[in-house]
Amino acid sequence: MDYFAGIDIGSTAVKVAVIDEDRQILGSKTAATGALVYKNAQTAFLALLSEIGLNRKNITYLTTTGYGRKLFEDADETISEITANAIGAKQVGKPYGTIRTIINIGGQDSKAISLDEDGNVCNFAMNDRCAAGTGRFLDMAARNLEIKTTDLGDFHYNAEGTPAAVNATCAVFAESEIIGLLGKGHGREEIVKGIHFSIAKRTIRLVKRVGIKELLYFDGGPALNKGLVASLEDELGRRLVIPEFPQVTTAFGAAIIGQEAYQFEKEENEQLASEKKQDSELAESYKSTLDPEFSKTKANSCGTSSCSSC
Ligand code: ADP
Repeated sequence: MDYFAGIDIGSTAVKVAVIDEDRQILGSKTAATGALVYKNAQTAFLALLSEIGLNRKNITYLTTTGYGRKLFEDADETISEITANAIGAKQVGKPYGTIRTIINIGGQDSKAISLDEDGNVCNFAMNDRCAAGTGRFLDMAARNLEIKTTDLGDFHYNAEGTPAAVNATCAVFAESEIIGLLGKGHGREEIVKGIHFSIAKRTIRLVKRVGIKELLYFDGGPALNKGLVASLEDELGRRLVIPEFPQVTTAFGAAIIGQEAYQFEKEENEQLASEKKQDSELAESYKSTLDPEFSKTKANSCGTSSCSSC
């Protein structure tokens, strides 16, 4: 059995996925990117391999993607995160139908990717200049509210009052706005809900730049936040496809690249072998029509001089 790995080295988190020849995910792992990017990515990769009972030699093809992809020197191939995200979403989204729009919110950027009916990227828009509307903004807000990023979804659903209006378009101003809202006595739940709606509105402006086409797929770490998912769905007025592991779609897409390269090579070798076999059969039958001695040998070798196949 051959195995393929994809490593997505993002600005905030490293994601690793390992698949088999049938594109089944054997395991995935997420770790902080940190400052020692290569070391942390390598540690996460080897830890996942050990968890699933494999070692480096079992990996036929390793593809890296994400902003730090070129730092991983022993990769067989590097690929842009837009392409890897599209390939991963196409595969993960299959049970739901055809994914035409991907909304990806990462640690420090957000993207909207438009796909054609075959899953090829036809357009994309990206915000990587400003932290507002990204995971970093959510992490900062959670810190200011003294809650965990992973609890933002629950706080959203526990809000009983009107969501607080969070208007700042810049993460730095939003930070002082959040502190101001707390000072005015707004509940943390309502502030969280207000933040989610503000990010949703901002994200939808980005998606409109590529066009909103169903099915819409939402991934990246913040897609684990059910409050943000609900806000996006409310603002869009449409349902989103949320994969089971939204943070690893791009790593999975990168792993598929390796599986495709392997499949292509395998099919090419099979084709070559079959052409070679056909050539030698043809040469043999041609020889037998020209050389009566050759046919005699063949007849003798099968023991029946009257055998028609000889
Ligand atoms: P990148 O690829 O840019 O490193 P990711 O797609 O890995 O970004 O997303 C990282 C962000 O995901 C974090 O900054 C955090 O806000 C968010 N995140 C990660 N895990 C969770 C979780 N369980 N619940 C909510 N948000 C999460």
